[in-house]
Amino acid sequence: METIFSKILRGEVPCHKVYEDDLVLAFLDIGPLTRGHVLVIPKEAAETLDRLSDESAAAIGRVLPRLCRAVQRVTGVQAYNVLENNGPLAHQAVFHVHFHIIPKPSETEGLGVGWRPGKLTDGEALATELRAAL
Ligand code: AMP
Repeated sequence: METIFSKILRGEVPCHKVYEDDLVLAFLDIGPLTRGHVLVIPKEAAETLDRLSDESAAAIGRVLPRLCRAVQRVTGVQAYNVLENNGPLAHQAVFHVHFHIIPKPSETEGLGVGWRPGKLTDGEALATELRAAL
């Protein structure tokens, strides 16, 4: 699927590049939640994480901690969230896999998480089903 990130990857739309290698590009989010909000994307055009190749996933995994450390160092903010949305219901707006690194300088700034934990009732059955699905 053609997205704004495909255009950025082809150099047709500018970005503030932070990092690049053969498989990965990182750049500043144009609408930052907080200063230092970085997006990390694979060059592979996968819409959602479940469709991404192991190779691209590994390449992102290899560089993510380094990018997080750079964001911490430059912003001076230690806390941060790494977020990756999949599907419109899950707040995905650009259909090309991207990991957000979002500094969390205070309770009110950065990512707000409305986390309402439930109760695990069928743990073993569910884990068994998931193991079989792998
Ligand atoms: P998501 O809701 O996870 O799909 O997030 C998409 C993100 O892409 C948003 O945070 C946007 O601000 C960001 N974004 C969209 N267009 C651009 C662009 N041209 N350059 C940088 N970031 C962008």
